[in-house]
Amino acid sequence: MYGFDLKNSYTLLPDIFYTHIQPTPVSSPKIVVFNRPLSQALGLNTDELEGSIGAEIFSGNKPPEELKTIAQAYAGHQFGYFTILGDGRALLLGEQITPHGNRFDLQLKGSGPTPYSRGGDGRAALGPMLREYIISEAMFALGIPTTRSLAVVVTADPVFRETPLTGAILTRVAASHLRVGTFQFAAQKGDITALQALADYAISRHFPHIELSESDREHGIDTVNTQAYLMLLREVIQRQASLISKWQLVGFIHGVMNTDNMTISGETIDYGPCAFMDTYHPQTVFSSIDRQGRYAYGNQPTIGGWNLSRFAETLVPLLHSEQPIAIKMAQEELNKYTGLYHQHWLQGMRSKLGLFNQDPEDETMIKDLLHLMEDHQLDFTNTFIQLMNETCPDVDGFHDWRQRWQQRTQKQPQLKGEVLSLMKQSNPAVIPRNHQVEAALGSAVNQSDLAPLHALMEALATPYDHSSNKEPYTAPPPPSNVPYRTYCGT
Ligand code: AMP
Ligand code: MG
Repeated sequence: MYGFDLKNSYTLLPDIFYTHIQPTPVSSPKIVVFNRPLSQALGLNTDELEGSIGAEIFSGNKPPEELKTIAQAYAGHQFGYFTILGDGRALLLGEQITPHGNRFDLQLKGSGPTPYSRGGDGRAALGPMLREYIISEAMFALGIPTTRSLAVVVTADPVFRETPLTGAILTRVAASHLRVGTFQFAAQKGDITALQALADYAISRHFPHIELSESDREHGIDTVNTQAYLMLLREVIQRQASLISKWQLVGFIHGVMNTDNMTISGETIDYGPCAFMDTYHPQTVFSSIDRQGRYAYGNQPTIGGWNLSRFAETLVPLLHSEQPIAIKMAQEELNKYTGLYHQHWLQGMRSKLGLFNQDPEDETMIKDLLHLMEDHQLDFTNTFIQLMNETCPDVDGFHDWRQRWQQRTQKQPQLKGEVLSLMKQSNPAVIPRNHQVEAALGSAVNQSDLAPLHALMEALATPYDHSSNKEPYTAPPPPSNVPYRTYCGT
């Protein structure tokens, strides 16, 4: 009904990985925002689900398959410390098979307590759920792999934080919710059969080109297809190297790169304290709890590597029956990460500067640009836009740099128009700027006025469209003495 075609392949995994649990009913659910294009792509009956039926379904009051909802178990290194976690406020409704045959998890976030809630209330507030909706959809429009947001439903049950807040539930859509932390959960249990089942599941769901031979699964670790698990590691490393380079290229700061917030699919997940950088500085941190700057903008690539090392560790028992050999195999793959990341990043920066070919001096030129931005507190996004518009920030050294860059663009066969069009495709005109996001959320939450949110989302839906005038969304924030702060798990 309503276009749902839900499967539950996750429950074929050993039962340590999940718990069957029903959402806790809420009072008077109402849809606040509904993502029509996404609903259509999922094959859902969009017109019907946008109304009160959708509110009942996406609040958890009437899940499409009532008896099959589950909360997933996982672990994770949070700020470097290992913890057993799990969906503390989320439930998997099922895996929707789209008309094109693709499989997506539909998950409610804020749907009530689960056995993994660790004392939390299992609930979410309207502001943060709308924030996830805005930023995840902006990431999608930017072309960055991400979980998406189908709906936000508001409830009449307040959630209690420092003050009572309006309660809400977000429907998150993801290629899967397999995390590095899911593997860490299996590994810490010391259950090789479960670990192998999880690895096989991840391969068949995300990397079906990796071949798993049947005999491997029957005969256990001595005869496992170690090659398949090595390839799994390689693929995850590649996807994360690519993903994190894309974050860096648009100034996205995830804010809480704990290993439970790193997916196996390579999608960005967990829009808690994330934010986009306005003024360029590698040490930019927005999250109120990240006091050491562990997850600062400039640290993200390194943290990505650290998290991947934790992932590789979990796979060691599957890579070879002799541990030292397995560790060496894993290490060889991990060693490729930094180079892979760097290649993606450099290529991306070249595109942002309209460069089609490669020159050994490019990296120095790019780093000099970043230093100029840092020294003169320039806006990261708009500096590239200024270069496209043939204007130039009026700061010491920039004119010289720009001349160097112009000479460099002439050292390639492409004409000026082609350079400009590559730059347009590679530099967003609009990003979800914090002051704009806050203004839209303020109107939505405090005045029940969704017009600013819809206007912002419309601008964010076509970030590479440089033709129309997207003011005020392209403007950096007005100067302020108070640094912008974001909060986790609220
Ligand atoms: P996060 O920082 O969002 O990755 O969350 C870390 C863990 O805390 C996850 O296991 C969440 O499910 C859990 N969590 C966050 N907020 C709540 C809440 N209000 N109630 C229960 N669990 C929560
Ligand atoms: Mg999380």
